[in-house]
Order: sequence, then C-alpha cells, then structure tokens
Amino acid sequence: MREILVAGNWKMNGSSAANLELVAGIVAGIPKGRGFGLLVCPPYPYLSAVSEQVKGSAVKVGAQTVSEHESGAYTGEVAPGMLKDIGCEYVIVGHSERRALYGETSGQVAAKFVATQAAGMTPILCVGETLDEREAGTTENVVDEQLAAVIDAAGIKAFENAVVAYEPVWAIGTGVTATPEQAQDVHKHIRAQLGARDRGIADQVQILYGGSMKGENAAGLLAMPDIDGGLIGGASLKANDFLAIAAAAARD
Ligand code: PEP
Repeated sequence: MREILVAGNWKMNGSSAANLELVAGIVAGIPKGRGFGLLVCPPYPYLSAVSEQVKGSAVKVGAQTVSEHESGAYTGEVAPGMLKDIGCEYVIVGHSERRALYGETSGQVAAKFVATQAAGMTPILCVGETLDEREAGTTENVVDEQLAAVIDAAGIKAFENAVVAYEPVWAIGTGVTATPEQAQDVHKHIRAQLGARDRGIADQVQILYGGSMKGENAAGLLAMPDIDGGLIGGASLKANDFLAIAAAAARD
C-alpha cells in the first residue's frame, strides 16, 4: 500500500519568527495513526533553520526549486548538492508558478528532476493543465507532454525515487478544488502512462493532488484510489490547517 504524503509548499511566505511558531505547531500536533508522511518546503533562506527545528520529528524538509547545474557561474541559483547538504530530502520541480512566471520549460524541469536525484534527493514533479487547456479538452495531452519530457530525460526507472503532483493550474490558490472524481481521472491517467512503461513503478509511485486542498476537502480527495497525498499551498501556512489534512490522511 502506498503511503500518503502531506507536503506543504510555503511559497514566498514566512519569516524566522513565523516559521518557528508554524513548525513548532506542526511538530507538536502530528496526528496519531500510520500511513502518512509530512513534508514542509520553506523558502531557501529558512531551509537550514527549519531543517534543524524538525530534527528528531517525523517532519521532513524540501525545497521549492533547484538549479539544474552542479556548481559554477550561475548567479542567484542554488545547487542540488547545497540543498542536500543542509538537510533537504525533496525538491519540488516544475511547479506551475515556475513554469508560468519564470518560463521554465519541460526540458529544464526534466534537467532539474535529474539533478535532484543525482544529489540524492527525491523530486516532486508537478504537472497540470490551465483552465483553457481543460476547457479545450487537452488535459491529458498537456500532462502527457510534461511527463514524457521527464521520462525521456531520466528514464522510467527514475520514478522509483520520485513523486508526481497533479496540480490543475485553475485550482491553485483560487479556492476552487478539483472534485475527487476530476482529480482521480487524471491521477489514474498519469499512473496508466507510467504503467505503460513499467507496471511495478506505476503501482508504487506516489501521485499527490495539489490545488486548494484543505481540511474540509482532504478526506474526499484522499479516499480516491490513485490520490496518494497532497501538495498544499495556502493551507500549509497555519499549523492547524496543515494538521487537519494530515489527520484526514492518518490511518489506525
Ligand atoms: C501549490 O502551490 O502547489 C498549491 C496547491 O497551492 P494551494 O493549495 O494554495 O492551491
């Protein structure tokens, strides 16, 4: 059985003081039960401090993006080895905000995925369609293209140590959530795409849902057979909101 991953993407939010309180609240309130993991992805400047603060707890730390390069003259960039060095275990790659606002191409996303694994961390590969693409009936084509770019670059076996996040762009930060059925349809499709290349890998890979997930809708989404957790933006910024999603994921 696949474990549920509850992952918080803090985006460009927080401060030293606010993070201290948020992480303390999360660590203190981890729900009882099994079958789920917790991950927080703070902005770069706070990764070290959060990494120290969660030591000894079940909470893991990830980054929101990474350079595809190992080192060198890339002003402003952060190398995968540096993230590993300060305790990161996961890196979000290809978030729709990175694709839309910073022009990250599927090729670049694939290179970041490969670089993340090469440094010994797990990439969380985000895929998902815009509202126009959904209305044009091209959701599956968009997701296929985003997935294929990574499979072509990294190989299907690389998904043994990777997480996929289906994040419909129209649901991110909008308060509009995909229905469990809408999300399940795309999750099932993603698993089938991976399964066409390697059934065993498709069966074990975690596919998270992201897009206005919160305590109130988490149980319905997580009840779907191909939804293995959440990538959570807004609701990851308050300990109680984040923990409500974790509570929905916990099994006896
Ligand atoms: C996200 O940024 O990945 C996200 C899903 O945000 P939100 O939960 O706020 O929609």
